[in-house]
Parts: sequence; structure tokens; C-alpha cells
Amino acid sequence: MHTVLIVGAGGVGSVVAHKCAQVPEVFGRIVLASRTLARCEAVRDSVRARTGRTIEIEQVDANDVPATVALLRRVRPALLLNLALPYQDLPLMDACLEAGVDYLDTANYEPPDEAKFEYKWQWAYRERYERAGRMALLGSGFDPGVTNVFCAYAQKHLFDTIETIDIVDCNAGDHGHPFATNFNPEINIREVTAPGRYWEDGDWKTTPALSESMTFDFPQIGPRKAYLMYHEELESLVQHIPGLRRIRFWMTFGDAYLTHLRVLENIGMTSIEPVEVDGHPVVPLKLLEALLPDPASLAENYEGKTCIGCLVEGTKDGRRRRVFVYNVCDHRAAYAEVGSQAISYTTGVPAMVGAKMMLEGTWHAPGVHHMEQFDPDPFLQDLARHGLPWHVEER
Ligand code: NDP
Repeated sequence: MHTVLIVGAGGVGSVVAHKCAQVPEVFGRIVLASRTLARCEAVRDSVRARTGRTIEIEQVDANDVPATVALLRRVRPALLLNLALPYQDLPLMDACLEAGVDYLDTANYEPPDEAKFEYKWQWAYRERYERAGRMALLGSGFDPGVTNVFCAYAQKHLFDTIETIDIVDCNAGDHGHPFATNFNPEINIREVTAPGRYWEDGDWKTTPALSESMTFDFPQIGPRKAYLMYHEELESLVQHIPGLRRIRFWMTFGDAYLTHLRVLENIGMTSIEPVEVDGHPVVPLKLLEALLPDPASLAENYEGKTCIGCLVEGTKDGRRRRVFVYNVCDHRAAYAEVGSQAISYTTGVPAMVGAKMMLEGTWHAPGVHHMEQFDPDPFLQDLARHGLPWHVEER
């Protein structure tokens, strides 16, 4: 039995608290800390109503390293699960080092004043974590996260050589709003409006944002148009899948979403550069975030399914092979179980499973690591057992 500190009581943090509470034999004591205590209270009440377990709650500003270190010294967790925002990755990694606590997150660091996500800042912690005998597991969500593990599984069991990987992410759900984002609006819009980027023949290639698309037939959903985007798991997978010739990431968007986004971009509402309004500096994207529905509030009326998977092509026993490894998740089923929509659910379950792997010692090595560097089998077994069954389809 272990103590864990979950930081961030948003859509994903709430799912993680519920899922950890469902596994008391591993997560003996759960402490949830966030910037706004009222959010923690709501999650605590829901966890109690749904699982009968009581979690402890705390208020913390994760950007304040000394305050987080003091909290860690008081709570003494074996592991900190970071479900706040990417901006908090580095302060939380610093706090964990100082307090001697392992670390896990679901998104890579992004500097607040530059829409650029890259692993280099977190990779710079490798030696310090190794020297301290501490482990940091990066990107234990769905994508990144489960997609990395699907690639490791394909490499271990399905292929001798992997040549190409296309990660495809489809949310075919309907929340009833004309425009809303499924996770933190600021992070989501920064990601979607960034140039597309993929890796081929040893080089990164850049395309204008949302300029390349393809139609992909998603199991249980059907054909949907998916757009090429840059996604952070590409950066680690090119280092860990030997022989890989090309890797790309695709996400589906409906026409209404894209039209709204185009208008918002054209009028400057997605910019992170402050503008002056009545003498006050205002960041347009922050204003937009304040106007859009809270992603957690979408859950109640969300219908439909998500499908995320890896289309892998290569050779096995001298023959060409193409396989789709995927999960399908239902918004309503996620809501019925933990009160959240499927995007938060598909991120929160792998965060819990990654934490379980670390706490049980199944995945444990000092340093800063990615999901595909560990044995995929125990993780995937637990993933299916705890709510995200996955499938392999020959294509
Ligand atoms: P939300 O905006 O719903 O929640 C973020 C939470 O973090 C809020 O409760 C917020 O507090 C809290 N927070 C923000 N800043 C601080 C701070 N300085 N100190 C303490 N708490 C803070 O986001 P989501 O739950 O949708 O997303 C959480 C993370 O998951 C993000 O990093 C996102 O990028 C990642 N993600 C990863 C995915 C994957 O598949 N790998 C998919 C989806 C999301 P407050 O309530 O006060 O605002």
C-alpha cells in the first residue's frame, strides 16, 4: 500500500483520483492537491459517493517549488502524479527531486510564453534523477502514453521490423455545444494551431497547420477525415523504435470545429501575445479560455465514442504486415463510471496504470523515461482490466 499525491483537480485529475480509489490494494492513501480547493472538494465528494473511499485534499500552487516541497515532506508520498498543466512540469520535477519523490505526468513541458512543446527541458533532468535514484515517467496518458506502449507492443510481438507508424486519434463524440475543447482550451488550441510536423528518413518535415488530411476508417465509428499534426510522442518514439522510416500523427476534426477555429484565428483570438484593453494587458487565448465551456462540464451530455490507435506497417517472418492496435471508449460509459467524458477518461486510466507499474516496481529505473522503454505486457494487461480494452486488427 502506497501514498500518492495527485496534483491538478481538473478533468484528468478527477478521473485519476477515481481510478486510484478503485485500486485500494495499491493506492492505500490518496491526496489530491490543486490551485483551487473547491475543485478538490468536488472530486473528493464524487470519489466518496462512487467508491466509498475518502481521499485527502490540499491547496497548492504547483509553480511555487518551496510550497510543493513542504507539502511533499508533510504528505510523504511514494509518487507525485502531475495532472496540472504542462507549465507545471518543471517546477514539479524540481520539487520531486528536492523532496526525494518519484514523478509521473501526461504532457510535456511547454514554456508559457512560447507555443512550443518539446522534451528537451525534461530530458535535461535525466542525470539529476539518476543520481538521486528517482524515476520520472513522462507522458503516461493516452497519446502520449498508451500510443507509445502500443508501438512497443507491436515491436515486441507483431513485427521483426517496423517501417512506418501512423497514430490516429478520433473523437466522434457530440457534446451539443457549437464550439468547445475536450481538454484544457489553452493547451488544446495551442496544439491544434501549431504547424504540422512528422519524421521521415531521418528528418523532421514541417507542413502548414491542418494542411494535410486523409480519411481513415475507425472501428465502431466509420470513415472520418483526420489531419496531420505534430504530437509529442513522435519525439521519443523516433529514438526508441529502431529501423523506423516514417512516423506521423493524425487527429480528426469536424467541419464546424475547424470553421470556428479558423474564425477565431483570423481575428486573433488564439494568440498568446498580450493586447491592451482599457489599459490592461489581456492575452486573447486566455480570454477565449474563460469564455469557452469548462471541459469537465461537457461530460454530462457527451454521446458517442473515441478511437485512438497506431497503424503499424513493416515485416514479420519475411512477409509484409499492416496492423491497427487501438482502443474504443464511450463517452456515456465513462460518465456513468467516474462522472467524466472519454477524453479525460482515456488520459486518466493510463496515468493510474503507469503509477501502478511504478509503485509495484514492475516499471522502475532511476532516470527520466518514456513509456515505450518498458515491457508493454503488464501495462496493457492492467489497462484492459481497468477500463480501456484494446484490440489488434490486421489491415
Ligand atoms: P484542466 O484545465 O481541466 O485541469 C488542470 C488542473 O490543474 C486544474 O484543476 C487547475 O487548477 C490545475 N492547475 C493549473 N495550474 C496549477 C497550479 N499552478 N498549481 C496547482 N494546480 C494547477 O486540464 P485537463 O485535466 O484537461 O488536463 C490535465 C493535463 O492532462 C494537461 O497537462 C493536459 O495537457 C494533459 N492531457 C494529456 C492527454 C494525453 O493523452 N496524454 C490528453 C488530455 C490532456 P484550477 O482549477 O485552479 O484552474
